[in-house]
Amino acid sequence: MKYERKVIDPEQIRRQEQICAEIFDVVTADGKRPLAMVDTYGCQQNEADSEKIRGYLAEMGYGFTQDEFQADVIVVNTCAVREHAEMRVLGNVGALNHSKKARPSQIVAVCGCMVQQEHMAEKIKKSYPVVDLVFGPHELWRFPELLQRVMRKGKRVFATEKNLGAVVEGIPQQREGKVKAWLSIMYGCNNFCTYCVVPYVRGRERSREPEQVVAEARELVAQGYKEITLLGQNVNSYGKDLDSEVDFADLIRMVNAIPGDFLIRFMTSHPKDATEKLFQTMAECEKCAHQLHLPVQAGNDRILKAMNRSYTREKYLQQVALARRYMPDLVLTTDIIVGFPGETEEEFADTLSLCEEVRYDAMFTFIYSKRVGTPAASMPDPYTRADKQKHFDALTELSNRISGEKHREYEGKTLRVLIDGETGREEYNLSSRTNGGRLVHLKGDPAWIGRFADVTITASNTWALYGEIGGNAE
Ligand code: SAH
Ligand code: SF4
Repeated sequence: MKYERKVIDPEQIRRQEQICAEIFDVVTADGKRPLAMVDTYGCQQNEADSEKIRGYLAEMGYGFTQDEFQADVIVVNTCAVREHAEMRVLGNVGALNHSKKARPSQIVAVCGCMVQQEHMAEKIKKSYPVVDLVFGPHELWRFPELLQRVMRKGKRVFATEKNLGAVVEGIPQQREGKVKAWLSIMYGCNNFCTYCVVPYVRGRERSREPEQVVAEARELVAQGYKEITLLGQNVNSYGKDLDSEVDFADLIRMVNAIPGDFLIRFMTSHPKDATEKLFQTMAECEKCAHQLHLPVQAGNDRILKAMNRSYTREKYLQQVALARRYMPDLVLTTDIIVGFPGETEEEFADTLSLCEEVRYDAMFTFIYSKRVGTPAASMPDPYTRADKQKHFDALTELSNRISGEKHREYEGKTLRVLIDGETGREEYNLSSRTNGGRLVHLKGDPAWIGRFADVTITASNTWALYGEIGGNAE
């Protein structure tokens, strides 16, 4: 069935904001400021969604806390990509019994990808009476209306119907921090990698209009943000569902043209549709970081095919070579799944050899996690958890060694970094990122947060670089 792009009528969002005002009158009637806690699991898209939940809550008059015993409303924004994250969520939601006992009027909401799965919504309904409101990612835009229903009726509300998703504009956002911003450019995924639950819970690929993305980026630059990360499950298919001719590379050029001193990053790129045009655009746009997260998942062609990744090892390696030809200083990172059903010793060895060949700056490695309803869940899997753990450990060791070696190559070099926060440690009190996204610890004045600076790298380890600022930060 073909998905028809759906846009939520802006009038509907105005209605939600009106409901926020109604809730404001009720919850601030005693003259006190109520508090909310938003707990986020999973990917950057979820971080971006939580900023919208906080945006709505702020309009309702809530301040924010990290202490569940102080919170009048708790929203847990969940992830479904691996079982481990789901277990953590369930454990933490169960533990909210204590805060709710201490504060019986507390409202607990659970949202995000995990509850968009029917079996999880059911489980919460049956076994987690502490939860008052459950809503999937497609219902986020009407969070105020759902919350008001819980407040007025005092009954549990579940909004997790099957849905392929829509594009929504105009939800208020409360961003964390003043230096780095997430900017969603598209939602959903059409790729159906056989291990992955995302296409089932986030719906079909749908892009925001380029004008909307550029307007938001312009606004962020005007507010002083110095780094904008364009987000999507597969940014390389940006625009395919729109009438306009703008593709992802064109969109980078449009954001790059906004006046100001800021960096553009993006994630994630699917290797099957990363184009030469994209690499050339990255190289030519002076604000675009030379950083590419290009998840390979596995180094063996049989496994790649079984994963439905639509590229071969050779095609992937050619893309890496092409990207590096345009950007010799490219920082390249990847995701890898170890222990996909039926992955043999030899097949895993192909992943190791690919990583040796590419020499990633960093790798995010995961042990395969069986996801209900995905094709891989019913593939034969004769290997034990212990076999997989052995492979995982070997890959981690390789990844750490290469990252350490690459970091050592930075020593003695002077690089431009963006100072983005405090570390809480005395000796190196500031954290920063290179253009390629590598972490650099520094000593300096916290007033420099949000500035670019030239830094000489003096030491390094597997995870980070250490540097000294030459002169004052710009
Ligand atoms: N859209 C992004 C990634 C989304 S999920 C992309 O395609 O690159 C982030 C990462 O989680 C994936 O790249 C994959 O490595 C990992 N992942 C996804 N499903 C998984 C599963 N069932 N088990 C283990 N890791 C998984
Ligand atoms: Fe999942 Fe594949 Fe889509 Fe990434 S591209 S979200 S791994 S289905």
